[in-house]
Amino acid sequence: MFSAATDKTRPVSPVFCRRWDWLALCLVLAAAVAAFALAGGFAGIPGAAAEVRVEGRAVARLPLTQNATLPVEHNGHHLTVHVADGQVWVNADCPDRLCEGMGPAARPGQSIVCLPAGVSVTVTGAAAPDGVAY
Ligand SMILES: [Zn+2]
Repeated sequence: MFSAATDKTRPVSPVFCRRWDWLALCLVLAAAVAAFALAGGFAGIPGAAAEVRVEGRAVARLPLTQNATLPVEHNGHHLTVHVADGQVWVNADCPDRLCEGMGPAARPGQSIVCLPAGVSVTVTGAAAPDGVAY
């Protein structure tokens, strides 16, 4: 089968590696990328974190690679932000509980918003445009 989609097997672009000083830099970069990819391979998207905001102000940044539980209290409502297995979600005692239904979130750009409590949780960080296709 002839497919044009199999052309992305080159790991690091050789364009910048034509001179020795650039070669050293490229080696360092390649090592860093490899380490990053290895670390991220076990925990979903490398560098992603859940940014917790209260009334628009960031109060916490939880790396998705690290399981955590963060209680947040605002406007008389209690939320608990959970991070586990590279995902983030919330439990809340707000009236509508829409926020609970928005989770779990794991990809950069996804967010969980609790309007009654004025709390939002947004996944930030480096996206992984290549490799993950599920
Ligand atoms: Zn809510």
